[in-house]
Amino acid sequence: MASSRTIFTVASITVLGGLLAYAVYFDYKRRNDVEFRRRLKKDKKRVDKQAAASNQASQSSVDIEEIRAALAKIKDEEVPTTPEQRELFFMTQVSTGEQLCTQGPMFHLPAALAFYRALRVYPSPVELLQIYQKTVPPPVFQLVITMTNLDVKARVEGYFDTFPPKSMNVSVQSSPKDQLRKILVAEKDFEEGDVIYKELPVIAVLDADLEGQGKYCSHCLRSLEGIDADTTVTPASDRLGSVYCSSACHEKAKVQSQNLLFGLESVLPPELDNGLANLTKGDRDGAQAKFTEFIKKEGRSVPLLTARFVARQVAIESAKLVPGRTAVNQVEILEGTVNADEYSLYDHMERLRFVDGKVAEDETKMLCAVLGAALPGLEQSVNEERHATYHGKLAYNAIGVYFGNGRDDKPAPTARPEDQERMRTPVGTSRQVGSGLFPVSAYIAHSCDPSAKPVFSSGNYELSLVANKPIKKGEQITMAYVDVSQHDIESEEARRRRRFELARGWRFKCTCDRCEAEETGDTEVDLGVDKDESKVEDVVRRVESGQDHETFL
Ligand SMILES: [Zn+2]
Ligand SMILES: [Zn+2]
Repeated sequence: MASSRTIFTVASITVLGGLLAYAVYFDYKRRNDVEFRRRLKKDKKRVDKQAAASNQASQSSVDIEEIRAALAKIKDEEVPTTPEQRELFFMTQVSTGEQLCTQGPMFHLPAALAFYRALRVYPSPVELLQIYQKTVPPPVFQLVITMTNLDVKARVEGYFDTFPPKSMNVSVQSSPKDQLRKILVAEKDFEEGDVIYKELPVIAVLDADLEGQGKYCSHCLRSLEGIDADTTVTPASDRLGSVYCSSACHEKAKVQSQNLLFGLESVLPPELDNGLANLTKGDRDGAQAKFTEFIKKEGRSVPLLTARFVARQVAIESAKLVPGRTAVNQVEILEGTVNADEYSLYDHMERLRFVDGKVAEDETKMLCAVLGAALPGLEQSVNEERHATYHGKLAYNAIGVYFGNGRDDKPAPTARPEDQERMRTPVGTSRQVGSGLFPVSAYIAHSCDPSAKPVFSSGNYELSLVANKPIKKGEQITMAYVDVSQHDIESEEARRRRRFELARGWRFKCTCDRCEAEETGDTEVDLGVDKDESKVEDVVRRVESGQDHETFL
């Protein structure tokens, strides 16, 4: 018993080293290790005395450029990788900071830098800042806050310098009407019919009615019609009944998310598994059976997209920790991720707009059970609130994958119109075969008279953004989230229908030029939304709107 527990802990910590398991490790230490707690929370009296002394001595007079330069240096420093090394590094920096604090104002900057270094390896920085606030002399604490804000700001601002990659011919910019609203802008001229860029999704799912039917590839969503049965792969046991168009797709699906969520093979690189996979089989089997039953019963795309997103984060983070980064299907794991070295999948997700998401009862518990059974500690990587936000982000940003003009065999939705799942699909959600999260295309705003259209001309989930009309460099690129063609209905009826779809799916009242032009002056039916109800996360809002003081406390 004791030995298997040790394997669990060491394996989960060693491999995830990044945020997830590391946070668990620290939590554990904080709760259980008296000495650790004692050292972390210092003797309050002594610190108060110090604080008073420093306050008297001076208000900090450190130049902002000096701080910037020091920060730039810290960024190039290597951070220890194993939890044990990190802990040691953390404790050393904190105690260095404390010693420097006692040596007067001249040492405030070096002291703050030591505290800042400690912050970099601490799994929950906000919490540590709160501890600092109580224990570190105010002038030094102020410096730490300034550094944190500069760093967050640089990260947020720097993000859109490298994303999207220049080769995609587009950039993400703030809308002239609203700084917090990001839009996609052309970086060169395009003619009608030009392919602006191609993009792979970071996660994709088949529509629920197609999953397990063997008609489309469960990974790349390609139609299996006409593909030789020798080429397709039907795994002997797959809870969702997945079928793949090729062994390449099977392998990608497995390492990106399928095995963690629905399989029993090791989730760790072989050299780190240490027998974990065998020990966890029974628990994983039970947890996965429950979760699969839920996914099937739910019959919606968002719960599965969310689960795949979480699993993919784990896969990418654990792959980073493999020595030399050559082992375990590096290429397959990183497929479709943009600038994965500099920014994590979470960085991409964090910036996306979202609408309020709802998780089903026990959904978080079921997903966490699946994760924790595979790698103890992982169950703490999602809580209900985060899970709901992921839901809201995927519901808001996912784009429908469809071929040609779309299919017409999708069963009519049974949910009330306001509860139906809608994905950004110019031919209508009812004609898509699946959906995916495309990190760049997520920034394309809706217009009922769009300048571009996502098409899937490669026959799989690869999105090609095609210009509908000439687009000049510097102009915003738009697409239709819903079917905006009029078919045989009158323009007034068509206008009402598409505006209802938009309000229900994306919680906004369309104000595009076409909607304005087609306005009849009659009182409009109530769409159920008065303003744009989509939002961005607090941390993004604060930094983007320039409120960079005391943002964390
Ligand atoms: Zn495929
Ligand atoms: Zn409109």
